[in-house]
Amino acid sequence: MTHDQPGETIFTWGAPPLKFGPGAVDEIGHVLYSGDEMSAAFTALTNDRYRHIVLAQAAARFPELAQLRPTRRPEDPVCPSCRGAGGVAQYPQLICECGNLGWIPAGSVLEPF
Ligand SMILES: [Zn+2]
Repeated sequence: MTHDQPGETIFTWGAPPLKFGPGAVDEIGHVLYSGDEMSAAFTALTNDRYRHIVLAQAAARFPELAQLRPTRRPEDPVCPSCRGAGGVAQYPQLICECGNLGWIPAGSVLEPF
């Protein structure tokens, strides 16, 4: 789970890369990950589920990044956590494991870091 930072902008972290909690998107759309919020050292995020979450949140938070929003395919199932609601209505600051899209990429696994 993460939360919105007051005054957060795509330049909060000195873009690029664009930073979203532990996830980030660089200037050509690669999804990156930093285990240390204070570090600018990023590695590529290869897990499909985490990429889905970061891209969904990038598109939701910043209109400039709307083209990064994942596109649902027919085989992609409803999110098992929010049952398709796209997060928890009472707690809009919480990020569901579906990135608040209400669905997850078929075959993806939420692996521990
Ligand atoms: Zn969900």
